[in-house]
Amino acid sequence: MTFDPETDTFLIAGPVRIHPRVLRAMSMPSVNHRGDFFHGVVQEIRELLPALFGARGHQAILTGSGTAGLEAVYSGLVPSDGRTLVVSNGNFGQRTDALVRRVSKNVTTLTAPWGQPLPTEAVLAELAKGDVRAVCTVHNETSVGLVNDLASIAQAVRASGALFLVDGISAVAGIPVPIEAWGIDAVVAGSQKGLAAPAGLALVHLSDRAVAALQPRAYYLDLGKHLKSIEKNDTPWTPAVPLFLALREALRILKEEGLEQRLARTHRLADATRAAVDALGLQLFPDRRWASDTVTAIHNPPGLGDAEVRKVLEREYNVLVQGGQEALVGKIFRIGHMGIADWPDLYAVFAGLERILGKAGRLPASGASLRALVERMP
Ligand code: PLP
Repeated sequence: MTFDPETDTFLIAGPVRIHPRVLRAMSMPSVNHRGDFFHGVVQEIRELLPALFGARGHQAILTGSGTAGLEAVYSGLVPSDGRTLVVSNGNFGQRTDALVRRVSKNVTTLTAPWGQPLPTEAVLAELAKGDVRAVCTVHNETSVGLVNDLASIAQAVRASGALFLVDGISAVAGIPVPIEAWGIDAVVAGSQKGLAAPAGLALVHLSDRAVAALQPRAYYLDLGKHLKSIEKNDTPWTPAVPLFLALREALRILKEEGLEQRLARTHRLADATRAAVDALGLQLFPDRRWASDTVTAIHNPPGLGDAEVRKVLEREYNVLVQGGQEALVGKIFRIGHMGIADWPDLYAVFAGLERILGKAGRLPASGASLRALVERMP
C-alpha cells in the first residue's frame, strides 16, 4: 500500500477525520453572507453552540484557526498593566505565553517541564499575593498528550478575582470542560479537533464577567463586535462561508450523538489506545495519571525514530499519526483519537505498529495490542 491522502487512516492530533455529511455541507455555490439563507445558518450555529461547550454564555465564531480565538481573548481580556499569570507545561503553553506577552508587559510565567503537571503550589502562592488580574493556561496540552488538572487551581483563581482564560482547543468536545463549575471566563475551541469540522474557525465562550471586562485592542478579532453581530445572526466581516456550513453540520452531528456520549466514546478509545500501547511494550510520554483522552503521546521505541515508525506507518500502511514538536521531534509520536475517530482507525494504527515492531524484533507478544482493543470494545 502507498500513502493516499484521500483514503488514509487519519489520526493526527487535529485536524481530525471529517464526516462525509460535513464535507458535503461545504460543497455549495457562493451564498450571500448578508442574506436570509446565511442568517439562518448562523442562527442555527448559535443555537447549537451550547451543545458544544456544555454551557450557555456569550459565544462567538471567528474566521481564523484556534490561535485567532486565543489572540481575540488575550488581546481583549489580558490587562496591559495589571499582573497576568501564565502557566505552561508544553508547546501550546509557550504559545500562550508569547501571545499574552504581545499585549501585556506585566506577565509572570510559571512553568513545568513539558509533560509534567502544572506547578499547582506555585500558582496558588502567586494567587495568594492578591494582585493577579488574569490567569491564562492550556487545558489539554496537545503537544505532550497531557490534561492539566485545572480543578486544582480553579477555586483559587475564582477566589482571587482574576479572570480565568483557558485554551480549550483540543479539550472541548473531547474531555469534560466544566466551564461553570470551574468558573472559567473564556474558553477557546478549534473547529478541527473534538468537533471534527474542518480547520479554520475558532469558537469562543465568554462568561458575563468576561464580557463586562472586555477591552478589545484588536480590530478583526474584536470579540465585542463579534458578539454584537451574532445576536443578529450575522458576522462583522465576510465569514468563511463554506466553513460555517461545515460547522453547522458538525454541530448537528455532535448534538445527535450528545456531548456526554462523545466524551464517553473518546474516553473509551483513549483507554483502549493506552492498553494497546502497554501491550506493545511502549511507554506513554506523560505520566498515565495525566494522559489525555484526545491525544496519546508515546515514546518512540528505543533505537527507532520517525523514519522507522511514523514514516513507515504512512508509506507502507497508509496510516497517519503525528510526530513530536520542538525538542520532542523524533522522540515521541502522537495518536489523535477525538472527534469521529473510531475502532477501525485504532485497528489500522496498531496493526501497522505490530508489523513494524515485529520486523524490528521488538514485539513482546504478537496480536496483544489488537486483543487489548477488542477487549475494550463496547
Ligand atoms: N492550542 C492547542 C492546545 C492546540 O492543540 C492547538 C493546535 O493544535 C493550538 C493551540 C493552535 O491552534 P491552531 O493551529 O488551530 O491555530
